[in-house]
Amino acid sequence: MTVAQDRFTGEVRMVAWMNQAALAATRESGFATFFSRSRGKLWQKGETSGHRLRVHAITADCDGDTLLLSVEPEGPSCHTGRPSCFFEAADGGAHDPSPVLLALEGVIAARASSSAEKSYTRSLLDGGAPKIGAKLREEAGELAEAIAAESAERVAAESADVLFHLLVALESRKVPLREVLRELALRAGTSGHAEKAARGRGGAGPQQV
Ligand SMILES: [Zn+2]
Repeated sequence: MTVAQDRFTGEVRMVAWMNQAALAATRESGFATFFSRSRGKLWQKGETSGHRLRVHAITADCDGDTLLLSVEPEGPSCHTGRPSCFFEAADGGAHDPSPVLLALEGVIAARASSSAEKSYTRSLLDGGAPKIGAKLREEAGELAEAIAAESAERVAAESADVLFHLLVALESRKVPLREVLRELALRAGTSGHAEKAARGRGGAGPQQV
């Protein structure tokens, strides 16, 4: 079995079969290629839809029978048009299986587009950049105070407030969380020299981690 996971959001996108030839084709092309047991042939994910999975890393599990592909998806991964094949609750519940930040981004987007619902999120979005900006500054100030003089629990709670309001701010500008995570990942791959060069060009340059 092969599990494809979004490198930036942590979302599990799909599961499919690979054999040795599929693995070799994946390595050679840089795009996820699977083996169809029903058709008895290799297929590159997205060969008809264009929604390929660019492969960043391939990891085997402890007993070597399952592969994890860390991928950058070029579109929805499910044939239904959804980002992930995993959207149907199998236990009768209605829990979003997405990683927490991604699920919260979805909740905030739903509140933004709902006309019926009056919510805190909606009131922030209705207030626009001035209200969201003021709230972000306020929450960042509270986090700074917690870091200086309060308990670890308070630091965690204030950090959660900052992240929540950050997600609302991103929704207000329609910037996907994924783009933020992608930016962080790109910085992590930047060498010190490249970072210095970027600063030399006048920008603040990416923060090194
Ligand atoms: Zn699917």
